[in-house]
Amino acid sequence: MPQIMVVDDSRTQRTVISEYLKPLKADIVLLESGQEAINALPSGVPDLIILDVEMPGLSGFETCKAIRGFLQDNWIPIIYLTAHTDPSNLVEGLKVGGDTYIHKPVHADVLQAITKAMLRLSTMQAELLEANKKLNDMAHFDVLTQIMNRRGYEDMLERLWSNHKRQQQPLSLMLMDIDFFKKYNDNYGHIQGDECLRNVAQALKSALNRPIDVLARYGGEEFVVLLPNTDLEGAKAVAENFIKAMAQANIPHEFSDAAQHVTLSIGINEATNEETSGNLLTKADEALYKAKEQGRNRSVCYQSSP
Ligand code: GH3
Ligand code: MG
Ligand code: MG
Ligand code: MG
Repeated sequence: MPQIMVVDDSRTQRTVISEYLKPLKADIVLLESGQEAINALPSGVPDLIILDVEMPGLSGFETCKAIRGFLQDNWIPIIYLTAHTDPSNLVEGLKVGGDTYIHKPVHADVLQAITKAMLRLSTMQAELLEANKKLNDMAHFDVLTQIMNRRGYEDMLERLWSNHKRQQQPLSLMLMDIDFFKKYNDNYGHIQGDECLRNVAQALKSALNRPIDVLARYGGEEFVVLLPNTDLEGAKAVAENFIKAMAQANIPHEFSDAAQHVTLSIGINEATNEETSGNLLTKADEALYKAKEQGRNRSVCYQSSP
């Protein structure tokens, strides 16, 4: 059932409008002033607002402006009720965010027809938002491993980076790469290689304890983890958990020189004050390279060279 908010200082007018809107089978909320309408929004946004223009206190235009400011991109139709027919007045009302007018005295059929037409737009808008959200989720999701993909990681990094900067909270990053994965593919085949990637992703996901930690497939056989409010010590502990989780998952890899199961090499880096979000990953990659060099199946923390 759509919810319609009717804002009018005249009790008679409110009664008449809610009577006229009855055939629409909407949930109608009657309010007496612009201020009441603005106050009501935080606890629930209606599907449409019918707003009287001439009201004591905040006028319909002022109310509309405040509502648009509050709702931002969340568009809902706003219909003015007015006795004015002066063109400059009408233009002004649309400029501040109203969508259309109904002239007083209100005619029942006109009110119903315009309200229905506006509700149609409102429904289309809701469907569009829903579709956009789905597309956005898909664009941030890795179908193979069922975890976030690189774009998802990049979005999360941007958000967590600004939190880190603003709140001066630690932030750590780990870059992980499967050891001897080319040999795995070459010997067990690509399909089993894909299955291995899925299993690794699940093992890593299960080894993370905090819901705010971010795990993503960075690409190929590389994974990345963002750990908010976590310093190097904490990140090191998570890396050790990952290495244990891989041992427990025990995915056989008889062609690996690092162990008898599929293992990971991990590069860890904690953000320091001077860093940009970009070199957070570059430094983790340097540490990852060292982990490979030192024999794989291990984690190495980034250290700036003297
Ligand atoms: P290292 O221990 O140094 O990391 O050796 P490696 O063999 O893992 O490294 P390399 O980068 O040479 O090989 C990565 C392999 O990962 C090669 C590529 O075919 C495989 N790969 C990348 N993406 C996928 C994928 O989506 N599915 C499968 N099955 N294999 C993939
Ligand atoms: Mg009035
Ligand atoms: Mg690689
Ligand atoms: Mg590899």
